Amino acid sequence: MVRYTVRHIDVQRCANCQTERFPLRARHLCGRCYYALRKLEQADQAVPQDVVKVYKEECQRRLDNLKAMEQKRKPPISGLDVESQLAWLAKRAGVRRNIFDGMASSIAWHFTEENLVVLYGLLSEIEENIQWAGVDWGRIYPVRREKRA
Ligand SMILES: [Zn+2]
Repeated sequence: MVRYTVRHIDVQRCANCQTERFPLRARHLCGRCYYALRKLEQADQAVPQDVVKVYKEECQRRLDNLKAMEQKRKPPISGLDVESQLAWLAKRAGVRRNIFDGMASSIAWHFTEENLVVLYGLLSEIEENIQWAGVDWGRIYPVRREKRA
């Protein structure tokens, strides 16, 4: 369980998401951030010009998400943090309503501060291991349809 609490000052951090949990791949970035940045840089060749802008925004969104996920793992973790993460995972799993609504204080009551950190880390592990689809084309194609119309 020390995994979530030990801090190494001398460890090199990813220049984007600041993680110390993964080795740096290239250009001071961890593997995931490096992959997203490469996609961003290759956008001009990879996709038609009219969708390049949205495509780049999608890649930038991935970089921002990675950074946000990493920052959210840092202690202290509140009952609300755990509730929000559970709600996000439930929604992602196809649950239509928020079945964890209002459970933050109950969660905080039942778990110690250290328990909350470990629990949140485990839940966050699920989120970060959902494979990035590269780019959400559903967000891009409406742009193309508008332009054709
Ligand atoms: Zn990173």
